[in-house]
Amino acid sequence: MKTVDIKASGDYTVYIGSGLTDKIPDYIKQLEKVTRICIVSDDNVFPLYGKKLEQQLENDGFEVFCFVFEHGERSKSLETYGRLLEYLCGHGLTRSDLIVALGGGVTGDLAGFAAATYQRGIRYIQIPTTLLAAVDSSVGGKTAVDLQTGKNQVGCFYQPSLVLCDPDTLSSLPEEEYKCGCAEVIKYAILRSRTFFDSLKKTPVSLQAEHVIYTCVGMKRDYVQEDEFDTGSRMFLNLGHSVGHAVETLSGFTILHGQAVAIGMAAITRAALRNGFCNKNTYDDVLSILEQYGLPTANPFPSEDVVKVMLSDKKLTGKTIRLIVPEQIGRCRILPVDTDKLSDWV
Ligand code: NAD
Repeated sequence: MKTVDIKASGDYTVYIGSGLTDKIPDYIKQLEKVTRICIVSDDNVFPLYGKKLEQQLENDGFEVFCFVFEHGERSKSLETYGRLLEYLCGHGLTRSDLIVALGGGVTGDLAGFAAATYQRGIRYIQIPTTLLAAVDSSVGGKTAVDLQTGKNQVGCFYQPSLVLCDPDTLSSLPEEEYKCGCAEVIKYAILRSRTFFDSLKKTPVSLQAEHVIYTCVGMKRDYVQEDEFDTGSRMFLNLGHSVGHAVETLSGFTILHGQAVAIGMAAITRAALRNGFCNKNTYDDVLSILEQYGLPTANPFPSEDVVKVMLSDKKLTGKTIRLIVPEQIGRCRILPVDTDKLSDWV
């Protein structure tokens, strides 16, 4: 078992270990005064892990409710969020109760935002079941839902009370979803560590999942502790995301988040090479590892359309957008770019 302690507006521990899902009630008992629990999960994950969790928690004396929604990014919406709030209220959940987000990033973001806002905030824990959620979205307290016009446009920062990550749950993950998580893992390596990057080239993530999750969560902890509210160094985690979010939105979410991030990382590295910020070796390294992990690297949309969607992004301040630009493997920079020059970077 590995642990990472996060010190933010709320302190908590991330537990990472095989077999952890069998012991979830023991961890919940360590939180004070929880008697009633709402498990939030999607219709893929709930039958796999939710039913068993419901039973375990009931056996341990908790009163349990389950809110199950249709899987997919389209459910990260105001509509599902509203239904979830009504469900919590309808079942009389109070501020001493607990929400359990069991699933991928969609579940975590949605359940976290509901927890942050229901009765001005009730506690929640994250149990990530995708690689992407394990290495990224379950840690750091960013919660959100999408609007028709853009991703994550409504949300807030709200830290979980606990994160319980069992790498065994990744065994049921469809291959495409696993690859999406690998895109976020590769992102950390490009941002922070040549050694980690080389280890990903040598040994597939699937053969070192626990170590990879632990390494990425440790890196995320550093960004979150330094800049919880994303006004400085935490922005580095947006590597590949400005273009990626636009691509994801333009595809109507048929291109998955991790695939879009891979396209975004390839696009920004191509632009970095063109604009003299990195050399050809760095560009080749980035492209070849994305291809090695079966991730897409070509943007299928006209750059004018991508730019248009990027201009509605939260990372826009006035007439400037901050892009994360690779300089070499293990080092990136935050580059403010004028919006009228954005097409040079897409
Ligand atoms: P997801 O939650 O939609 O999960 C992907 C798919 O895998 C879904 O169909 C789900 O039902 C299925 N699934 C999940 N776990 C499974 C398992 N163990 N076995 C079988 N199937 C399983 O998507 P995701 O890729 O986990 O997350 C993407 C979302 O995360 C996006 O909305 C993105 O914006 C968000 N995100 C948030 C943060 C943050 O800091 N909050 C960071 C990165 C990404």
